[in-house]
Amino acid sequence: MRFSAKKLSIILLLILVFIAPTHGIKICVAAGEGSDAQGVALVKDLKMGTFSSFSGNTLIGDRIVADSWYARSSDPSSISSMMYSGDNALKISLISAGPMGASASGVAGSHAVATDLSGRADGDQAQLRLSSESPNNNQYLMAGYEGGDGEDGLKANLRMAAAGSSGISGDLEVMGVKGLEGGMPGEMAMVLNGLYAKPDGDLGRFAVATMDVNNHRDRPEVSSASTVSGTYSDYNDPQAYALAGWRWQDNPSIKFWLRTDRYLSGEKLTAGQATAALSSAAEAWDDQTGQELFANGISTSSTKAADRLDGFNVHAFKYISSGALAYSRTYYYPSLLEYDPQGRPYYRAAESDIVYNTKYSWTTSISNTKLYPATKTFYLQTVAQHELGHTCGLGDTYLDALYKYDLAQIMGFYNDANDLNHDGGVDFGAGDVTGIKQLYGS
Ligand SMILES: [Zn+2]
Repeated sequence: MRFSAKKLSIILLLILVFIAPTHGIKICVAAGEGSDAQGVALVKDLKMGTFSSFSGNTLIGDRIVADSWYARSSDPSSISSMMYSGDNALKISLISAGPMGASASGVAGSHAVATDLSGRADGDQAQLRLSSESPNNNQYLMAGYEGGDGEDGLKANLRMAAAGSSGISGDLEVMGVKGLEGGMPGEMAMVLNGLYAKPDGDLGRFAVATMDVNNHRDRPEVSSASTVSGTYSDYNDPQAYALAGWRWQDNPSIKFWLRTDRYLSGEKLTAGQATAALSSAAEAWDDQTGQELFANGISTSSTKAADRLDGFNVHAFKYISSGALAYSRTYYYPSLLEYDPQGRPYYRAAESDIVYNTKYSWTTSISNTKLYPATKTFYLQTVAQHELGHTCGLGDTYLDALYKYDLAQIMGFYNDANDLNHDGGVDFGAGDVTGIKQLYGS
């Protein structure tokens, strides 16, 4: 049998650090001859903490393996399970820093493998990775968060199958935000980046990445997200930026809409105040390059919606019951490239939507600019400017250990309106400016 070596090329990086779990189990079974192209196999690797339980059943027949398991843990743990049938493969990896529970049941038979998975994690951080690989196409899904408050972590109820073609479907929620809304469109990738307002005033984060790629097409290689080297020098470091891996075409003049609905009218903002703040955030990025990144002005629409791939870039206010503050959802083509002025390749961006949670209040008055949930009021332009940075192709700098505490960057863990020079505006850090110029030139 052939173990697929195709690597998950989704750009999002979540770096999780765990205490080494104390109990490990590894299970490998294969049915069918080793050289048989249609052999079936199961590989399971568990590292469970002290306060955990695991039970599983594996049935092995002639070219068929049926497997089910149930795991629960209150300390750091990781589960990985892979099932193969010839060129079809399903892989599950769940890593959790705290309380989690998960169960799955699957079968690998001749020419097909299928499984379902349900699980949840509620600790400080957790990460789920799935892949479904087949001769026709591969689908990947990654979801993770850090800075959880013990309530709204990760919930998954998913089905996966690979039988010539691959599919992943079902429901996924990360910090209260639906990750798979709109499903997994063919030949398309999506990255959702979100901020979470922790009760103590800090920001947490959550992310979902999905990708569907056709295996019969040439797959361009994109240089991976930038990594920085050296030692942390100072606040407002000009090297403190990260690249998300996508870029728009030159002078894209990205047109954004503001959805006008009862969620917007429920805020104490007029559509005019909101569009002015959102335009200022977009124009702030425009001003850093010679390119026309965003179209001037923002139109309003009561019908255009965020969270769906429809060709329209939409800012929308929505009620989310968790502490999620805001998120951007950007789609890009996994087979089309764009090059920056230095000639480096990126995936071509297709669409970007941004959502603001009306569980919090939003203001456009600079006199009330603290991001602390104690006031429950957030400054719209700051948050929009961060999320529009993702739209442009920048990643979060707080993922990098060197720059995690560089609070000058709008793409970092800023904790107020980012008014660095106290002139009443939202300011970029030096790294934000370097990053956008890397992508689109000076
Ligand atoms: Zn972000």
